[in-house]
Amino acid sequence: MDERLQAWTDDGGDHRATGLFRTAFEVGPDGVWAAPGRVNVIGEHLDYNAGPCLPIALPHRTYVAMRRRPDDEIRLVSAMDPAAVWRGSIDSLGPGKVTGWAAYAAGVAWSLGEQGCPTGGFDAAVASCVPVGAGLSSSAALECAVALGLSDCFALGLAAEDAGRRRLVAAAVRAENEVAGAPTGGMDQAASLRTREGHALLLDSRDQSIRQVPFDLANEGLRLLVMDTQVAHALVDGQYAARRAACERAASLLGVPSLREVTDLDDALGRLPAQLRARVRHVVSEIARVGDFVALLEQGRLRDTGGLLDASHASLRDDYEVSCPELDLAVAAASSAGALGARMTGGGFGGSAVALVEAGAVGPVTSAVAAAFAARGWTAPRCFEATAGAPGGRVR
Ligand code: ADP
Ligand code: MG
Repeated sequence: MDERLQAWTDDGGDHRATGLFRTAFEVGPDGVWAAPGRVNVIGEHLDYNAGPCLPIALPHRTYVAMRRRPDDEIRLVSAMDPAAVWRGSIDSLGPGKVTGWAAYAAGVAWSLGEQGCPTGGFDAAVASCVPVGAGLSSSAALECAVALGLSDCFALGLAAEDAGRRRLVAAAVRAENEVAGAPTGGMDQAASLRTREGHALLLDSRDQSIRQVPFDLANEGLRLLVMDTQVAHALVDGQYAARRAACERAASLLGVPSLREVTDLDDALGRLPAQLRARVRHVVSEIARVGDFVALLEQGRLRDTGGLLDASHASLRDDYEVSCPELDLAVAAASSAGALGARMTGGGFGGSAVALVEAGAVGPVTSAVAAAFAARGWTAPRCFEATAGAPGGRVR
């Protein structure tokens, strides 16, 4: 295991965020809130096809110490750059008005205001053990921890029930899309705020409805190994837009509002031009795999899900063409070393892969993956074990 990827305890995160807050602002915070990163177990590139996904919250969380101010000023500091305090005011927020990491944090105060939940000035200090830029959603962890802090500091009462949390999710999504300018779906924020410990979250992007599905790895003697390849290929944005456009074109040719509505795959493939067929085959087969995966989990058959992970990876690699040599190698090496199943996770072209492994096989699988990368002259992925962690909440 890579030491740098150890999740902190809540006490450790509280200590770091509070310490940074005191150093930067010379008083103590009103409280500390935390929200997790996530990893998607299966159901990839389906959110913009009105399909399902199945993320778990990571034990890795972003901690935000916050104090409400009597005025409209906002001051933000992150342990990533503790000497630089960002300053703004509640009226100076909005699309195009905030640059850098503050867009993710302060942007949430703007979007809450847009949703009819006005806040005010505040100071916040951020400390996080969620790996940044690894496809594990450090951005949503940050937005959601800030959203929880604002909800409590300004007595919005949105954190107690799922209905309120849905509004926090919506505010976090708007901050990311409109203020930070990153076009993402709502999986990351829902995973951060609407999950349950020991469960995966079946999230339906058609209506944002959820189901908690048992995902107790430890009880089955299993582990989910996350392998961060640390590569990010430049194609991501253009290829994402191209896949999205292909799906929209296929749906329109088939006369359905989204590919979720395709019921007969063979019939659909016969009615589409050759260049769209493989894309549609991925989407429709992946939707079916999520259903099969959830059915196995609900029957207590976590151990039997490996084949679905492998099939998902093959589909993303061959039909959807969003994998890359590093992800393919991590998956292949993990499988050869005895993983029950493995797949890339997230948008692709870099980022992380996951492997379902026996508890006793974590060491050998990690070593085999490192050796396979070394043989190609590539830097080994950073690996850690994920459990289905708790959703975001108040820590202190
Ligand atoms: P991912 O969400 O996969 O980690 P993103 O590119 O979506 O990658 O988000 C990463 C960005 O989120 C960082 O570049 C930074 O702007 C912001 N961010 C995340 N965590 C922190 C943090 N602890 N402190 C400051 N900024 C952060
Ligand atoms: Mg992100």
